[in-house]
Amino acid sequence: MHRLYFTYIVVIPHNIMSEEFKKYNKNQKTLEWQKNNPDKANAKASRWYNKHKKEMFDKIINHYGNTCNCCGEKEIKFLTVDHINNNGAAYRRNIIGHKTLKTYKEIIEKNFPDEYQILCWNCNSGRNHYKICPHKITS
Ligand SMILES: [Zn+2]
Ligand SMILES: [Zn+2]
Repeated sequence: MHRLYFTYIVVIPHNIMSEEFKKYNKNQKTLEWQKNNPDKANAKASRWYNKHKKEMFDKIINHYGNTCNCCGEKEIKFLTVDHINNNGAAYRRNIIGHKTLKTYKEIIEKNFPDEYQILCWNCNSGRNHYKICPHKITS
C-alpha cells in the first residue's frame, strides 16, 4: 500500500507541480483518500498529468502551426516539440521525457519563443541520430 503511495509522489515531482495541483493536493480529505486508495490516486494523478500536458501541448502545437517543420506531417499524434538550436540529446530528452510538462510550461510562459519548433517523431529522431534529419541530407 505505502510503497504504491510513494510511487505516486515520485511520478509528479514538486518542481513541475502546477498551482492548481498543489491546491488540490493540500486538501486533507483528498490526502486521506489518496492514502487509502493508492491505486486510484495514482491513476487519477496520471490522468490529471496527461490531461494537463495535452492541453499545454495543444496550445503550443497550435501556436507553432500544427505541422512538422521538416516534412510537413500534419497528424497531431506524430508531432513533438523540438528545441531548434540545441543538438544535445540531453536537452531533447528533457522535452520528450519526464521534464515535458516543465518545458511546455516554460514555452507558454515565455510566450512561445522562436527557438522551438514542431517536428514529427520521425524527423525528431532523425535529427537525434544523424544530427540533421535525413529529409534534409541531399547527396
Ligand atoms: Zn517530419
Ligand atoms: Zn524530416
